Amino acid sequence: MKLHSVFTSLQGEGRFQGYPSDFIRFFGCNLNCSYCDTKQALSGDSFYLETPGSVAEKLNRSDIFDICVTGGEPFCQPDELLELLKLLRGKRISVETNGSFELEPLYRRFSEAETDSALYFSTDWKTPSSGNPLFDERNIGFLKKSGAGWIKFVAGNTEDLDFIDEKLPLLDGVETYLSPVFENGGEWFAAVEKFIKGRRNIRLQLQLHKILGIE
Ligand code: SF4
Repeated sequence: MKLHSVFTSLQGEGRFQGYPSDFIRFFGCNLNCSYCDTKQALSGDSFYLETPGSVAEKLNRSDIFDICVTGGEPFCQPDELLELLKLLRGKRISVETNGSFELEPLYRRFSEAETDSALYFSTDWKTPSSGNPLFDERNIGFLKKSGAGWIKFVAGNTEDLDFIDEKLPLLDGVETYLSPVFENGGEWFAAVEKFIKGRRNIRLQLQLHKILGIE
């Protein structure tokens, strides 16, 4: 499979924010978001090839419980992704995805393998300012019934907040986070805080890795 990097850091977002985690950054993505902070993992030649078996062997030797499969977009290499997930042992795995792919088929095939790892999807719902507001809405029902993940919005302007407001009624029963675009700074954080105060079932989340300046 095509990888950009494997590294250890703290989980910056989602339900397991703040925990130490091993990260596997897949190379390549089907989108090209305006605020993408991993452009180096999207195209060009900054990748290397490694088999799922070889990566899993190294990660299974790590004492760290959490594994985050990120990108790029891991679902762009679906067979390799599934193979890797099935080979991990006793881990809490989060797959960070942009939400444009259907999650359930992969989850079903992973569950059939009966491994001793747990699998979650940290699922973006891209807002208009990303330039790619694509989302597979079948994922809402899947996340509601399985509890195997959460939805994350990133808001960069008031149009994004209006978009999120429109979607929130669909997400009752799904763990949902909202992060302000970090680079927009304090006044924008205050606007997002105000938006959240007027609603339920959505939580503020600041992107920890950006605050700490870590990968
Ligand atoms: S989906 Fe994620 S990795 Fe792909 S371009 Fe958008 S922000 Fe970057």
